[in-house]
Amino acid sequence: MYAIGVDVGGTTVKLGCVKDGLHIVYREKRQSPRDPQMMAQTIFSMVSIAQQRYPGVKVGISCAGSMDSNGQVTANHLGWVSVPLGAMIYELFNRPIPMENDAMCALAAEHIYGTLNGCTTGILITLGTGIGGGIIVGGVPARGNMGLHGEVGHMITHADGRRCNCGQQGCWEMYAAASKLREAAGGMSVREVMSNVRAGKLLDIWGNYIHEVVIGLSSLMMIFIPEIIAIGGGLSNAGDIVINAIRSELEETSAFRIFNPTCRIVSAHFQNDAGILGAAALASMME
Ligand SMILES: [Zn+2]
Repeated sequence: MYAIGVDVGGTTVKLGCVKDGLHIVYREKRQSPRDPQMMAQTIFSMVSIAQQRYPGVKVGISCAGSMDSNGQVTANHLGWVSVPLGAMIYELFNRPIPMENDAMCALAAEHIYGTLNGCTTGILITLGTGIGGGIIVGGVPARGNMGLHGEVGHMITHADGRRCNCGQQGCWEMYAAASKLREAAGGMSVREVMSNVRAGKLLDIWGNYIHEVVIGLSSLMMIFIPEIIAIGGGLSNAGDIVINAIRSELEETSAFRIFNPTCRIVSAHFQNDAGILGAAALASMME
């Protein structure tokens, strides 16, 4: 069984043709056009080329930013406000294509094939440019009014804190996104920061950063009492050092010790391909 997943990000559009839900057998990547019409055409062109090799294969799209059930997208990284991408895609393909926010696609991939498989209550957070993720409640991805997904990264962790481009002040991702770790380390890459940390340097910066991550996670733990928390995104590529640091501080919180001591804190299974795999899963389920 094949399905095509398209992952529309702030810098690149990635397409994968996925076999049996997990194996990417064909890939293409292009730069993300910022013009919405050009973006729709890029997606259409990439899918058309893939479908020449895999005719009749279903398609799903993962897109950065927030999205309503009509496919209207607001994405800071693309400079989009209420862009009707769903309608543009519909016009080009002449049929509706299932489309979902990238965090929800990553959540679907983890829930169907990854570390959140089989859980009743679980949390995925991704530490990258921002903080993404989603929550499984009652065995299904939690959704809000009008099918909208929540934004864990914009949970406020600092009253009247740093101004966020969502319009609030003190959002979690203004302190605990991987990009904030880089900023605190004077613009070093995450890889450089982590090699310093492994060498016993930058430990203050690292400790403060982990503390910010844990403040948000302990609130989510208190609200949802999850069986499992999966940590993904660019930072988790650094491996066990990240998970171990988060776990050891989180396990000292009341949220863990008193309320939920059997909660497991693990690495997410999928990294860069979560969007493609989630979008392909969406195609198999919905189209
Ligand atoms: Zn915000």
